[in-house]
Amino acid sequence: MHDDQLLLFQTIFEQTPVSTQIFTPDGETALVNTAWEELWNAKFEHVKSYNILKDKQLVKTGSMPFIKRAFKGEVVHLPTIKYDPSQTVNIKGMVTYRWLQANMYPIRNAGGVITHIVLQHEDVTDRIEADEQIRRLAALVESSDDAIISKNLNGVITSWNEGAAKLYGYSTEEIIGKHIITLIPSELHSEENEILAKLREGERIKHFETVRIHKNGKRIHVSLTISPIKDGQGAVIGASKIARDITAEKKAAEALKESEERLRIALEAGEIGVWDWEIANNKLTWTDNVYTIHDVSKNDFQVTYENFSKLIHPSDKEDAREKIMTSLKNKTPFQAEFRIITPKGETRWVSTRASVTLDDKGNPIRMLGATSNITRQKQLDQEKSDFLSMASHELKTPLTSMKMFIELLNKHISRTDLEKPKYFVKRIIDQADRLTELTNDLLDVSRIETGKLRLNKEKFDLRLFIEDTVESIQTSTDDHTIHIKNNPSITLYADRYRLYQVLVNLLTNAIKYSPKSKDIIVTVKKTKRHVTVSVQDFGIGIKKDQQKKIFDRLYQVTDPEEKTYPGLGLGLFITKEIITRHQGDIWVESTKGQGSAFYFSLPLKQH
Ligand code: ADP
Repeated sequence: MHDDQLLLFQTIFEQTPVSTQIFTPDGETALVNTAWEELWNAKFEHVKSYNILKDKQLVKTGSMPFIKRAFKGEVVHLPTIKYDPSQTVNIKGMVTYRWLQANMYPIRNAGGVITHIVLQHEDVTDRIEADEQIRRLAALVESSDDAIISKNLNGVITSWNEGAAKLYGYSTEEIIGKHIITLIPSELHSEENEILAKLREGERIKHFETVRIHKNGKRIHVSLTISPIKDGQGAVIGASKIARDITAEKKAAEALKESEERLRIALEAGEIGVWDWEIANNKLTWTDNVYTIHDVSKNDFQVTYENFSKLIHPSDKEDAREKIMTSLKNKTPFQAEFRIITPKGETRWVSTRASVTLDDKGNPIRMLGATSNITRQKQLDQEKSDFLSMASHELKTPLTSMKMFIELLNKHISRTDLEKPKYFVKRIIDQADRLTELTNDLLDVSRIETGKLRLNKEKFDLRLFIEDTVESIQTSTDDHTIHIKNNPSITLYADRYRLYQVLVNLLTNAIKYSPKSKDIIVTVKKTKRHVTVSVQDFGIGIKKDQQKKIFDRLYQVTDPEEKTYPGLGLGLFITKEIITRHQGDIWVESTKGQGSAFYFSLPLKQH
């Protein structure tokens, strides 16, 4: 070989960045280059006594068969090996592990005989690590539940992970190469242009909440984070997009809003006020309804426990305070009914329930309560108990009389005098009738309340009906005269028994409430479609403001002068119900002190 050429090859050998070690056919090192020295951090002297064919370490690592093949004349590419300096005893210089790719090949002379074997190590650590990094990132992207997509600056989708397939329904094959617009609802198409414009500027878009379309056409709420992808020179070449499905969160938020709204409506409808008392700083907050319940204005009334306490009725104040204290002490819910006096002087009943919130140490820090105005309920309770005491009183009167007359009858029955027993029996029958009436009224009311008052309609002559009824009432009174003023012949289709009840009630009331006058006038008037019956008396009359209320259940005029009239206040309530059930009308015209006229009208065509 030419000297120049030799020098040339020598230089290449020295300068090549691939670590090169040349062995003699019996395994000893003949030559190493600079790259070798650098890689192993060693010198030729270190391997002078080294024989590769006797290296037990290489047997262990499984490289020996490859090496043997190279020594026999084959070109061998050894598997990439991770060299760990702590394990490689023979090479001391290496400090951190390296990934090495080894190749071996023989050198033959002109006669084809192997003179040397070359072992070259290429340091591929950087490439392997970069590959690994990419693999790790790819696995991360693939395993993410979030949809991770990349697109170029024209909006064309360039990558698509499993999360994206799940979220949008398209497989990777289907979507790659399609425009991102595929996922965007038509009314939001302009949104994409804005996003792309921002990306070109290199801007990042964080948690942008919007709507996208699934392959099946359904809309999904997503939160997007979009980052520009830059090339080595920092120029934006595309974008990565992470989309998170927030449909469930959105739905939950909407459901929460809805249930809050429902609660608000319920609280409004029930006129329930909510209050919140932060105990430590004595801060009390009221909703509008609490102000309304206490009849104080939001502007004038400063809500503090002390100011609220001032509204409580003096007789109930101590009890309410004690209940609050007990609830705080025992950490139990608070519940109380008490009276308040509004600034205008009106007494109202309120009912309050509250729960106690505790801190980490179990100390009460807050009371959250609901308050409602129960004045009407209390009134009704009062009316009910008044009614019960009145009803028992009313029922007792005929019972006591009956008992008395039965005892008298018992005494007289043995004697011969028949006049007296006859009289007693008549009185007993009268009182029994009264008792029957009272119990019938009570029964009717309960039928009305439970919707069980039924009508049995039949055709009958109204004129005869009026005459008969008036006659039967007339026989029971000597003090009053009932006049029938006008009574045309009319065929009515109605519940005869119930109408009898109506007329009897109006007539007995007329008698009862006109103790000092004699006349009662019954008038029947027929128009084209209706018949109107009126019962007029010249008795005590009814005040204007009470004329509507007397048709209410249990209502009795409670002027002191009227206390003396017996009755349960059920008659007119039942009467009105019977007339209404016949599609008729009932009303009263009256002047206090001059008398009353009760009217009821019925349609002539009843079905
Ligand atoms: P009661 O059993 O008390 O008579 P009603 O329902 O028949 O019950 O009447 C209700 C109230 O209407 C009575 O308590 C009375 O105050 C008043 N009232 C009814 N009819 C007359 C009338 N003809 N004149 C004056 N007041 C009447």
